[in-house]
Amino acid sequence: MSRLLLVANWKMHKTVEESLAWGRAALRRLEERGPFRRVDLVVCPTLPALWALARLFGPDGPVALGAQNLDPGREGAVTGAVSGYLVAGAGARYVIVGHSERRAGFGETDAVVAAKTRAALEAGLIPIVCVGETAEERAQGATEAVVGRQADAVLAAVPTPPPAFVFAYEPVWAIGSGRVPTVEEADAVAALLVARGRRAWGEGSAPVRVLYGGSVNPGNVAAFAAAPAVDGALVGGASLDVEQFLAMADALDGLQAKGDGDRG
Ligand code: PEP
Repeated sequence: MSRLLLVANWKMHKTVEESLAWGRAALRRLEERGPFRRVDLVVCPTLPALWALARLFGPDGPVALGAQNLDPGREGAVTGAVSGYLVAGAGARYVIVGHSERRAGFGETDAVVAAKTRAALEAGLIPIVCVGETAEERAQGATEAVVGRQADAVLAAVPTPPPAFVFAYEPVWAIGSGRVPTVEEADAVAALLVARGRRAWGEGSAPVRVLYGGSVNPGNVAAFAAAPAVDGALVGGASLDVEQFLAMADALDGLQAKGDGDRG
C-alpha cells in the first residue's frame, strides 16, 4: 500500500520544553489510538530541540525527525553553521531544503539549494526540497516554468538516483495566508515534479514523492493528499498544535490507497 508523508515544519517556534511537551502528548495519543496504517510522521523542530526529541521518540519511534535547513559543508570553521552531517548525528532523517522563507530571506539561489540537496544526500538524509511560485509568477502564468526550473537545478546536481527523495510544492502565496490552490492545480504541479524526477533518474529509480504545502489544515489535507500525484503534506502553522497535527494524520490514514497507475 502506498504510504503518505505528513511533515511538520515548526519554523522558529517552541522552546525545548515546549517541543518535548508536544512530543509527549503525541506519544500518549499514538499509544491510545495505535499505529497509523499508511502515514509516516515527521517533525522538523528548531535545532536546539532536535536531539531532545530524538531521545524522546527513539530511532525507530512513531515520529521521525527532520531539520529545517543545513549548511552544505561537513565540518569546519564556519561560525553559526550546522551541516547535514551534524543534524544526522543529532537524530534527523530528513531535512527541508530551499524553503521559500530561506530563498527570499537568506538569498538561497537555485544553485545554493542544489548544493544543499547534494550535501543532504551525502549525509544520508532524505531531502524535502521546496519549490513554488510567487503570486506575481502565478499571475503571469509562469507556475510550471518556475517550478520546473527550481526542480531541474536540483535534479541536475544529483546525477545518481537517490534512495529516497521528496519535493514539496509550496506556492509562496499560499504559505501562512489561508489561501490555497485548487487540488487540480496542486496535482498538476506534483505530476510535473514526478515526471522531472523520472526524466532525470529513469523509470526504475525510487519514485520521487511530492508533498503539497501552504495553509494545510485538518479540513483540507485529505483532499490534497487524495490527488493522484500528491503523497502527503508539509505543514507549518497547523502543525504547532499536536491535536491538529494528529487530526491531519488521521484524515490521511482514512484515505483509500492509490494505484501506482494514478501517478501518470
Ligand atoms: C510552510 O511554511 O512550510 C507552510 C506550509 O506553512 P503554513 O502551513 O503555515 O502555510
